Amino acid sequence: MKNQILIIVLVLAVIAQGCNGNNSDKSDTPLDNAGATATGKFLIMSDVHFNPFCDPSIVDQLTKTDYKGWQKVFESSSDSSYGPYGTDSYYRLMVSAFEEMQKRNSNPDMIIINGDFICHQFESVFLQHTGETNRDSLRSFIRKTVSFVFLMLDQHFPNTPVLPVLGNNDDYCGDYHIQPDGPFLSFFAGQTKPLLRNMQQSDYLKTFSKGGYYKVAMPWDDKTVFIGLNTIYFSTNYANVCDSADTANAGWDEFNWLKKTLADCKSKGEDVWLSYHIPPGMDIYKSSKAKPCGAHEMWKQPYNDSFLNLVNRYSDIIKGNFAGHTHMDEFRIISDGKKLTSFVHITPAISPIFDNNPGFVEITWDPKKLELINSVTYRFKGIQTKGDNTWAEEYNYGKTYNIPAINAKTLAKIWKKMETDSATRAHYMHYYFVNNPAEIPTPWKAYWCGARFLRADGFVKCNCQ
Ligand SMILES: [Zn+2]
Repeated sequence: MKNQILIIVLVLAVIAQGCNGNNSDKSDTPLDNAGATATGKFLIMSDVHFNPFCDPSIVDQLTKTDYKGWQKVFESSSDSSYGPYGTDSYYRLMVSAFEEMQKRNSNPDMIIINGDFICHQFESVFLQHTGETNRDSLRSFIRKTVSFVFLMLDQHFPNTPVLPVLGNNDDYCGDYHIQPDGPFLSFFAGQTKPLLRNMQQSDYLKTFSKGGYYKVAMPWDDKTVFIGLNTIYFSTNYANVCDSADTANAGWDEFNWLKKTLADCKSKGEDVWLSYHIPPGMDIYKSSKAKPCGAHEMWKQPYNDSFLNLVNRYSDIIKGNFAGHTHMDEFRIISDGKKLTSFVHITPAISPIFDNNPGFVEITWDPKKLELINSVTYRFKGIQTKGDNTWAEEYNYGKTYNIPAINAKTLAKIWKKMETDSATRAHYMHYYFVNNPAEIPTPWKAYWCGARFLRADGFVKCNCQ
């Protein structure tokens, strides 16, 4: 009897999986993990910014070696440094992060990666170390660097679905210059597709190669969807310098795809998570320095407004947003002016280039409802304290802020408390740079207002009056 019930349940699970989404390409739908049980925990990392140039003496060898042989080259380096503040991730720091993530959770439900895989100023550093001006050599080295990051990740998490998005540094053409429909997008799509594992992936190659965005169905419930966006097109810094063709509409093409996709999800009764690199709202650091008191948005205003309106409109199915880019541990609350509608969970960087300690996050969640229950940040100690190359649990939302879950309501509760309760405020500001005591966001009010007001007028009103 017990076995019969089990068979019926399995058959139903397979049928449900087959009906899932609009997946027409059956060969694209790995079902070996269908009905897999979620563990209720997953990991997020962001802004790895892997710097392959940390030991200049091995760069020549790296240029001559296939990325599959890179680990051996890095291991042969006499430089065992994890790097200082102000630089992107050295090899040992990146590997240490993967090892620690594996140690904390060797079988997470998934790993969300919020973009920026390669180091800043890649082109000029490459030129400086190789003297090589040939465009194809640069592109080959960028491909090897990206491939190596994913190879190391795959070694540590051979079965875990990995859900990446692009950062502003992730392209052949340079910072904020992602080329729509360009060769980097198709390369990156091909590299990452196998890492989706059991996440259904119809259209992944097509939409990622076109604009760096995608939708996948999650395997634990046939009504849950993960959408990865390329928000670099929305950035105030974005320019398409590699392509003379008219691609000014790349951002709106993507936005319209998102609009259509959300309408489609809504009609099917699917719940959605959105993940991207650059969050909507203020560039708080820049805004905090603005004189006279003013505001700088992360995205061009029409994108910021349209996106927030869209989130407000679909707030019943959008269960959360994930971002990176600021390199800091923070959150943002979305509201329509009357009620709270959603939130953005922002994961700090592995790279310590902006003087944050390296950090990653483990989330406890409800896979059926797409609800976040808790978020724990782990931090690396070895940048701050030379020689102490260990990681520690830094804090978790539930215990620190005394909240039972992470959503717009509970985050607004923390936010409100920050205004008058100095302990709550001190926690948030202290964890912002992942526990680097030398870096506390100042003035606190700009950072506080930036967490709650994602449009310039609201931010200015909060911060300047
Ligand atoms: Zn970054």
